Parts: sequence; C-alpha cells; structure tokens
Amino acid sequence: MPELPEVEITRRGIEPFVLGKTITGAAVRNPKLRQRVPRNFARLVVGQRVKRVIRRGKYLLLECDAGSLIVHLGMSGSLRVVEARSEPGKHDHLDILFGGSALRLRDPRRFGVVLWSRVEPSRHPLLARLGIEPLSEQFSPEFLYRATRGRAAGIKQLLMNAGLVVGIGNIYANESLFKAGIHPRARAGRLSRASCTRLAEAVRETLLAAIAAGGSSLRDFVHSDGASGYFQQHYYVYDRAALPCRVCGAAIRVARLGQRSSYYCSTCQK
Ligand SMILES: [Zn+2]
Repeated sequence: MPELPEVEITRRGIEPFVLGKTITGAAVRNPKLRQRVPRNFARLVVGQRVKRVIRRGKYLLLECDAGSLIVHLGMSGSLRVVEARSEPGKHDHLDILFGGSALRLRDPRRFGVVLWSRVEPSRHPLLARLGIEPLSEQFSPEFLYRATRGRAAGIKQLLMNAGLVVGIGNIYANESLFKAGIHPRARAGRLSRASCTRLAEAVRETLLAAIAAGGSSLRDFVHSDGASGYFQQHYYVYDRAALPCRVCGAAIRVARLGQRSSYYCSTCQK
C-alpha cells in the first residue's frame, strides 16, 4: 500500500512533467474507483493549467487555474508519465492528457480517488479534518507530548490516527517505534518528554530515509511499464516476525493491535 514516502516520491516524479502544463484531455476507461470519477471529468479539467503539485497526507493535489485535481492512490494505485498513444493495460483506468504525454493511473484494486474540486482543497470534505504533516515543523516533540497527554490508547494507534498526524501508516509506525525504542502498546499518555522527543525524531528520520531510498526509483515514473513504482526497503521490524532483530538478535515479535499487525523487539522496545 502506498504510504507517505511513496506518495511524496510520486509527487516528485510527476512534477517536472505536469507543472506549468495545460491539460488537453482525459480518458476515463473505468470510473468505478473508491469514489466514482465524475461523468463530465474531461470537460471539467480540459484547458486547466497545473500551477502547483503538492502533497497533503497521502493525497496528491494538482492545483490548477479554476480548481484542483485531488488524487489518492488507495491500496494499490500508481501514477506514471507515459506516451499518450501507448496501449493501456488492464488496470490503467484513467489518463490525464498533456499533449503527447499522459499521466496514467494504474489501480488494480480500485480504491483510489480522482476528483475535481473547485473549493480550496484544504476545505474539501476528504481533507478538511486531516491532522498535521509529520515532516512539518509543527510535528515537534512538544506537539507530540501535548497531543498524547490524557490518552489511554497505545502510542502506535495514536501515531496512525490521521486526525492527529497524517500519513504514518502501519509500516512507518512500526519502524519509527523501533527506532525510538518504544513498545507499540505503550500508553500514549504515559510517554515521557524524552520519549516524545525520540519518537518525533524517529518518525521524521524514518520517513525521510524512505523518501531518500525511493529517490532512486524516480526514473521509473517516465515511459515505464514497471509493475508498481514502489520501492523495496530494508526494514528493522516490519514484516520480520520471528527473524532476528538487526540490533540485538532477539526474535521479532508480532501482535495484532487495532486490526493491524505490530512488529517489535521486546528487548529493544520498552
Ligand atoms: Zn532488538
């Protein structure tokens, strides 16, 4: 599933090809995504010039003259820049055309979203209640300390609460907690200031390292027929149940926490 780093890499990958360009057409081959693509989608977007390509949480926003394209990659979506006349694959549901090039959405599981919004994206119902960005200065040790006071929930669940902080999915929540030496079940409200400082830094470092790792895949966004556009990473705990901890050698444990698998080292994480 694309998480914040993949979405950020996608943003960086497509930006040079769409920024300042005018949309010349759109081809919707299958409108049945998580939300139905509007019937008049092509008419809404043709003639719009892309002024900014930004990311908010896991949403990509192409800000245009009269509104914004809102794109979410869902569970399995990817965007790439292809030649407009190249043959679409089975799961290539939508093209946004820029002359001879197309921004093509591939989404086998169809949980993605492609919408046009005339209102400021931050006020759109999908985005209005999103929490702060984990890579912004707002996500500070002090913020984390204050936000966790009086919270009985486990810290992992709170980290993954998009109303508090956006874009920290299961993978990066597990990895950040390992890096900070904090048990995923630790009560959020009991975390010390020092723990909050370590965790805020670990979240930032983990996300930035993932973005840096994905930077090498940027070329895949152009004229490529690659399968997903996502990148393989070297995880400390995620998806490593029973394998030896890379720091201490103890077996990585796995537990179900709030419907998601939590991976941790019971020696390194207290
Ligand atoms: Zn360990």
